[in-house]
Amino acid sequence: MPSSIGFIGLGIMGQPMALNLVHAGFPVTVFNRTPEKTALLKEAGAKVASTPAEAAAGADFVISIVSDTPAMEEVVAGKGGILETIKSGAVAIDSSTISPVASRKFACKVAGQGASWLDAPVTGSKHMAIKGELTYMVGGDREAFDRAMPVLQVMGKKHIYCGTHGLGLAAKLAQNVIQSTMVEIFCEGFVLAAKAGLKPQIMMEVIQGSMARAALTDFKAPFIFRGDFTPYFPLKLMHKDLTLAMESAYAQNVPMPTAAAVKEVYGAAKAQGKGELDYAAVVTFLEELAKVQVRE
Ligand code: NAP
Repeated sequence: MPSSIGFIGLGIMGQPMALNLVHAGFPVTVFNRTPEKTALLKEAGAKVASTPAEAAAGADFVISIVSDTPAMEEVVAGKGGILETIKSGAVAIDSSTISPVASRKFACKVAGQGASWLDAPVTGSKHMAIKGELTYMVGGDREAFDRAMPVLQVMGKKHIYCGTHGLGLAAKLAQNVIQSTMVEIFCEGFVLAAKAGLKPQIMMEVIQGSMARAALTDFKAPFIFRGDFTPYFPLKLMHKDLTLAMESAYAQNVPMPTAAAVKEVYGAAKAQGKGELDYAAVVTFLEELAKVQVRE
């Protein structure tokens, strides 16, 4: 009998992750705050719950992937939250990128019910979620991680056990500091090149023939050059992650001068109303300042 799964959060990432679990034959009960987003899952064979508590009731694994720390607070400890029903022996696998401090508190709360908690943030974005090829960074008890592997393997192709509670999230925040900065500085360079009169394709040929070449910017460049900012990872969520990283840096007395500046660039783009676009739309903020466009 396959393990039963409660799945909470059917956004850009959660939708394909939950679908892969259903297609793999797991009995899945889904919850999403906006009920319309459950239609595809229902059609695929999932049960639909009207609260996170209902999705978690009786489940061996309770998976969540929601926007931010306040959303997760509601999912765990709000009215109809998973704390009301999570069973002893269950493993909660939270793939939301949230505060590591809050995540450790959630781990303590579910431990009070006899359940385990893993912070299991992911990287790979929408296209890798669809293919079931995400990379997981996991914090929590090794035993719970090992038990969760058959489920995690359906959604990801690489699973890195990082250590105790919160270390999966520590890895995720550090990764997004690097990733956000790579895209931002790529855009700054391309805006400078465009202002000088270089075509983006020629500049790209230069980058791809140099040590500055990176898989991330190889992936993002065609979208930038087309001006297609359909969200794979919404800009407002990248700003959220940079804010979490800076809070973490402050708490640990780690200076991060470049990340602080990059956070403000994404924050400015968000303030301009670009928060729902992909984070590569940060280029448009830089383009507007320089009065030039990086386009095909
Ligand atoms: P998204 O498309 O904006 O989805 C957010 C999800 O959170 C939706 O299901 C939303 O429900 C739910 N939610 C928000 N507030 C809630 C609340 N108060 N109570 C219950 N549910 C709530 O975001 P996403 O791109 O899937 O990202 C989800 C998480 O994964 C974020 O923490 C993000 O940082 C992380 N992540 C994203 C990517 C990526 O490339 N997109 C990659 C790695 C990690 P509604 O449908 O009702 O709004």
